[in-house]
Amino acid sequence: MKPINNKENFEKCICPNCPTYVDCMKEKNLKLFCAIGKAECEVQKQGCICPECPITQRYGLKKVYYCINGAETE
Ligand code: SF4
Ligand code: SF4
Repeated sequence: MKPINNKENFEKCICPNCPTYVDCMKEKNLKLFCAIGKAECEVQKQGCICPECPITQRYGLKKVYYCINGAETE
């Protein structure tokens, strides 16, 4: 199930701790990519910590690298 883009989920997202998270995302205040889709930033894969995130467990997410590949689909 695609996560809801709300404040509660935004705060739980651990993207800022991820090695792939870049300054561009920080500057644009972007995370929770499993809900909002791809980051409009230059991103190089450096590992994805989505599997360790409480949102993955809560919504039964199956994928990784949402900041590159886009949101989890319905
Ligand atoms: S699963 Fe990934 S993109 Fe989604 S909230 Fe967690 S860390 Fe952020
Ligand atoms: S979606 Fe995955 S790879 Fe991208 S910043 Fe979040 S945890 Fe890292």
